[in-house]
Amino acid sequence: MRNRMIAGNWKMNKTFTEGVVLAQGLVRELEGGTGDVDVVVCPPTVDLKGVSEVIEQEGAPFSLGAQNVYFEESGAYTGETAPDMLVGIGATHCIIGHSERRGYFGETDEDVNRKAKALMSHGIVPISCCGESLEVREAGTHVSFVVEQIKKDTAGLKIDDPSKYVIAYEPIWAIGTGKTATADDAQEVCGAIRETLAEAFGQEVADGIRILYGGSAKPENVAGFLGKDDVDGALVGGASLKADSFAAMVKAAM
Ligand code: PEP
Repeated sequence: MRNRMIAGNWKMNKTFTEGVVLAQGLVRELEGGTGDVDVVVCPPTVDLKGVSEVIEQEGAPFSLGAQNVYFEESGAYTGETAPDMLVGIGATHCIIGHSERRGYFGETDEDVNRKAKALMSHGIVPISCCGESLEVREAGTHVSFVVEQIKKDTAGLKIDDPSKYVIAYEPIWAIGTGKTATADDAQEVCGAIRETLAEAFGQEVADGIRILYGGSAKPENVAGFLGKDDVDGALVGGASLKADSFAAMVKAAM
């Protein structure tokens, strides 16, 4: 049985103080608990410490995730953050391979794979993103495109506990555009992802890995995605920037 997951990607939004205020607001919104739903918030790197303190001091019912990591342990990599540093600040999850990092910063599937290995060796749960462009979708090759991404992103991973590796399917054309994939579109690709995982890691492991949908998910449409067999939650951008809308999505998943 897979617990659902709702993860918020704040992207490059919220100053340190604004991040603390948002996290405190989320604590209030979720004071009744989150049931079996795993909730993760992923602030910008400079906000991690502040949100970590809110989680610790207020006993928040959510976990802390980073938005990026570098795969080396330490050294001359100006501007980067090592897995160990994330552990030290209380992060338990980390987004990797987001389409914005692939598109603007040249992150490749090989990088995503190395980052997943580095995170997992430090006990951090990767939230590994995949998804096709509008061009690929219109060419009708989106399923094979994403399957290839998954094969490269997961190559050689050792997944002992499938609850500790998460995939987010995010069609690029639906991110921040207000244009959502339908629940059936999401299921088509998420189902293919699970089959690919079963071929690589066996059915039992594949059945334990959470596959999230992301792309203009909001309180009004999240239930439709969650109703699909292979969609286990959502990675939320815009709608995670307000405590009430993000909390409403968590409640819809409960
Ligand atoms: C995202 O960037 O991960 C995302 C899903 O963004 P939005 O919800 O704003 O489309």
